[in-house]
Amino acid sequence: MRIPPGGTIGILGGGQLGRMTAMAAARLGYRCVVFGPEADAPAADVAAHHLQAAYDDQAALADFIARVDVVTLEWENVPVAALERLARARPVRPGAKVLEVTQDRLAEKRFLNGLGIPTAPFMPVDDATDLGAALAAIGSNGILKTRRLGYDGKGQVRLDPATPTAPEDAIAALQGAPAILEGFVDFARELSVITARSPSGELRSFPPVENRHADQVLIETIAPAELPVDVTAAALDIAERIARTLALEGLLAVEMFLAADGRLLVNELAPRPHNSGHWSLDAAGVSQFEQLVRAICDLPLGDPTPSCPSTMRNLLGHAVDAWPEILAEPSARLHLYGKREIRAGRKMGHVTRLHPG
Ligand code: AMP
Repeated sequence: MRIPPGGTIGILGGGQLGRMTAMAAARLGYRCVVFGPEADAPAADVAAHHLQAAYDDQAALADFIARVDVVTLEWENVPVAALERLARARPVRPGAKVLEVTQDRLAEKRFLNGLGIPTAPFMPVDDATDLGAALAAIGSNGILKTRRLGYDGKGQVRLDPATPTAPEDAIAALQGAPAILEGFVDFARELSVITARSPSGELRSFPPVENRHADQVLIETIAPAELPVDVTAAALDIAERIARTLALEGLLAVEMFLAADGRLLVNELAPRPHNSGHWSLDAAGVSQFEQLVRAICDLPLGDPTPSCPSTMRNLLGHAVDAWPEILAEPSARLHLYGKREIRAGRKMGHVTRLHPG
């Protein structure tokens, strides 16, 4: 079902991804209503309305339904029960089925392996006994990750044979939450692909980009990644196969490891705009945010081809204080998220630097 310009988009989650989605929506003549529990929601500043409520607040969900024509999300951990409630009244794109796979690292990895897509070796871990067995099977070089609600390295314990951790301590560090042990991948580079698919089945992908992390948080994206053509084709094929299999309506970011031997392993899926797609705001035929709006409203998708090479850097914590110098750079495009409080490591904004040939 197409939602023509003039309609209202409901966004679950109030962070910077919602903010940039709402700005892209406004450009195409849509209004946005933001729903989420955060008080200082960066998305609320640029939306027509903000419903500050918990995801299980039934009265607030009913109010939200009355205000919107279609629902999307900028945070993939929205409870599935809320999505199912909303889906009885409005199109929810992406839907609960996609979220069920991507909210749980174990379900996600089993789904990927079921498609023949490689991942790091993994085993489910619910207690110290499971962890002992998993370490014996996978090896002692790994990462213990909670199955749910982890991001940017949160909910993770690195297990390194050089500094062994007792299984009981590793389990205690995650407060006993259901987890998986992943083997540590000695990757050469990290890549991601963002694919959009509309309800009509049109599918378009941004080219693979290269991502650099510090302390498990993205700091820089190089767009597009410089890769052999066969690796680019393989990365696009993986992302598009996943999007088709999930019957995705919206955006899907696929994070991958490129091994030294050229093999691609999928690390993680995110069914929403992704930090590694921010460059597209300034250096592609369409931004990932506008592409999301087009996809969920079932409009023709835009052209994700880069207009020129670019690098995107996150402004974490007080790095944002450099805004005057960044504004003075002719090739820099500054984006600030309007967050009231600067905290160490907090994503305050980003800058994309254009590198025309
Ligand atoms: P995640 O929260 O799973 O996206 O992990 C954040 C970052 O930690 C990744 O982008 C990698 O840099 C690193 N990482 C996660 N899992 C692994 C792994 N199995 N092997 C090596 N590095 C990893």
